[in-house]
This record gives sequence, structure tokens and C-alpha cells, in this order.
Amino acid sequence: QILALQNALPPSTDVKMELKDANVYHIEVLQSPCSTLRQNQLKEKVIELLRAKKTAFGDFVLEEFQDPFIQQNIKYIALCDVELPGVEKKVIDLTTANLQIHVFQLHTDGAGTEELDEENMSAASHWILPASDFHGLWESLVYDDAIKIRLLNYATTTLMFSDKLVDSNIITWNKVVLLHGPPGTGKTSLCKALAQKLCIRFSDRYSHGQLVEINSHSLFSKWFSESGKLVMKMFQKIQELMEDPEALVCVLIDEVESLTAARKSSMNGVEPSDAIRVVNALLTQLDQIKRYPNVLILTTSNITGAIDLAFVDRADIKQFIGPPSVRAIYTIYLSCIKELMKCGVISPTHQLIDIRALEVTRFMENGATIQSLKLYNVASKSHGLSGRTLRKLPFLAHALYLQGSPVTLENYVEAMSMTVDRQF
Ligand code: ADP
Repeated sequence: QILALQNALPPSTDVKMELKDANVYHIEVLQSPCSTLRQNQLKEKVIELLRAKKTAFGDFVLEEFQDPFIQQNIKYIALCDVELPGVEKKVIDLTTANLQIHVFQLHTDGAGTEELDEENMSAASHWILPASDFHGLWESLVYDDAIKIRLLNYATTTLMFSDKLVDSNIITWNKVVLLHGPPGTGKTSLCKALAQKLCIRFSDRYSHGQLVEINSHSLFSKWFSESGKLVMKMFQKIQELMEDPEALVCVLIDEVESLTAARKSSMNGVEPSDAIRVVNALLTQLDQIKRYPNVLILTTSNITGAIDLAFVDRADIKQFIGPPSVRAIYTIYLSCIKELMKCGVISPTHQLIDIRALEVTRFMENGATIQSLKLYNVASKSHGLSGRTLRKLPFLAHALYLQGSPVTLENYVEAMSMTVDRQF
């Protein structure tokens, strides 16, 4: 069955939808690793502090506190996801706002792997969430419209409906998210960041999260004859995780098109029918785990046009992720430059302005905008490069054209410009 992929989410101009309940604000509170206080104790303190702050203008992060109690127990307090691309920032009245506080701590264990065989080919990686590996990932991904918020809202509703045991025969919804688009556009990262974000948002409901990333390539390699059994084994483990009602389990299947490839080749008689058995085993298992209220399935595909997959047509969150626009590229570069200034690789530091401010000045050149405009020019000619290449570009610029540190901003931007030319 060929399913033409369409953007199933509302059009990107419909940003107001995200703001419907505009007076609810999500506050993420990272608790210090050494703090053993209960969440409720911290929540009261945080609300007190934010009410005293009175107003906010867009997203913010607080890291320094005068109150020694807060200083000891909290690493930061962040108001997140209020600023939306293309929407003007607004003043938030913190004294009356409905503040939803989400307290969390990071797990620092890193990834564990589930091995398929003696040759250590890993079938899956596994993290306990929220994980320090994914800290800051959500914020680092830049898109032109409110993709991230829309995904988060959809996934939140999905989990809420499941948790409330809404009968899916009466109201249909689905637990499969599919992100598709060209390689290097941040699909896998977005899935991981979404899983992490959901664990933080649902920290009242679930004590922790589990992220299992299934490596579909390794399942369909030369181990076809054994793979069927291995898929079952892997799902048995996932099943064990799901049986803990305190855990939110996210299963990530990267590059689902490799399942399609396995089916096709088996239909063409190239591969033995074992391949199709493996795919079917996987699909059956996915159908089964979908019934659990605490499970979400995240998938990605690099195929942009059409995809042939039995379970994907049941995904109701299908989101196309394209390469970044010049606007997004500028924001990505700006974050890279800020990091290099923070670490002293670029010195002296300069105040660069963000894209909104640049647009307000209508890109007029003056003393305050000149450096930012130079960076914007590099962003303009970088259009067409993938997000992955863009994040690597400042490194390549240094390695290829600059050596040593510190480097002036002007020289660094010039080196980036030359690196972009080289990339093309
Ligand atoms: P994909 O799964 O689409 O191939 P990845 O998730 O592997 O892409 O992306 C690789 C890296 O590229 C990410 O970790 C991120 O650093 C960078 N990247 C890609 N797209 C973006 C984006 N839109 N904004 C910021 N960084 C991005």
C-alpha cells in the first residue's frame, strides 16, 4: 500500500492554536543532583519566587538565586516554549498566570545497549529519561514554524487520553509519530528531545521515562534467519519496561524505510522469506505494545515522497521536517558563535543581535548591526545545507582556515564564509 505522505498537522500559519490556553505556562525546574527534597516542597518555593518576579518577556532561564535554600536545591528554573517562530514576544504576568511546575532530575548513566549476538552488533540502545545526554537538545533544534510545539501538544494529548483510558473505539487517536524528510534535518534528535520533554512534562504522572532506540538496520542485515527470534526477545524486554506503570516508555525506530526495503526485497525473491517474517514480527509487536497507556512510538524516515509501510498509515502524527531556512540557519550560527565566545575561542566578545531584532531594523547597516549582518550573509549563502552540516561548520572553519585561539569574530565569520563555499 503506497501512502502519499502529507503534512497531517495543521498548517504552520495556524500558530494561534498553540496559544489557546494562553494563560498556562510550563516551568521546568532542574533539581540539583544532591538535593533529596520532595517535588512539592520545591514547587511552592518556585511559585513564590516567580510571583515575586512579577513579569517575564518570552522564555527565560534563572540560574542564580539569592535564596540559599533555592541555590542549594535547584540548578535552574526555565519558562519554556512560550516564544514561537513568527509570533511577537509578549509580556507575561507571572502574578496571575497558571504556572505548571515540572521538577526533574537528570539521569547520568548514558546509553545501554541490547546486543543481538556475540559479535556485539547492537539491536537497540536504551536510556533512562530525563537523561543528561539529551539535556539542551530540544532547545538546540531550530525550525521555522511551531513544529516543536505542535508535536509536543499532540504527544501530550495522546498520552493524556491514554492515561485517562479514553475508549479508542469511540474517539480514535494513535500512538505512532512519524517524522520524515531529508537526512540531517534533526528528525532523530527531535524524537529523542520529544521523549525527554514528555518525561519532564509528565514528571507528576510518571516517575521516569525509558527510551529504547531500535536499530532497524542491524535487524535486517545478514542475520535474517535469526532476527525473528531476536525481535521477539527485544520486545520481551520492552514489555518488561512497560509493565512498570510508573515508567513512560518511548520506542524510537529510526529510518523505518529499511523495513520497507526488507519487504520489497523479499517480494522480489531476492531475500528469503525470513525478511518478511521479521518485518511482520516487528509490526505485530508494535501493534501490541501500542495498547499500553504508557507507550509512545516514534519513527523517522529519510524518504520524502511516498512510503510503503503497513503501520505508518496508522500514524496520525506525520510531520515533514525540511532543511532549515535562512532565518533558522542564522539562529543556529548565532548559537554556535555564542558558544565559541563563552569558551574564549572567539575574543573579544561582541553583542550579536537575534533574527527578530535584525528584522525590526530591516537589515539596515549601522554600528550595532554590522557584525550580525556579516553573519547573516553567511547564513544566506548556506541555504540548502542540512542542519547537521551547519552545526559542524564552525568546527570545520576553525580546522581549515584558523588555528589557535582566540580568534576575532570578524576572522571567524570570514572563515565560515569560505567553509560554506567549500561545502558547495
Ligand atoms: P536526521 O535524523 O534527520 O538524519 P539528526 O537528528 O541525526 O538528523 O541530526 C543530526 C544533528 O544535526 C543534530 O543533532 C543537530 O545537531 C543538527 N541539526 C539538524 N537539524 C537541525 C536544526 N533544524 N536545528 C539545529 N540543529 C540541527
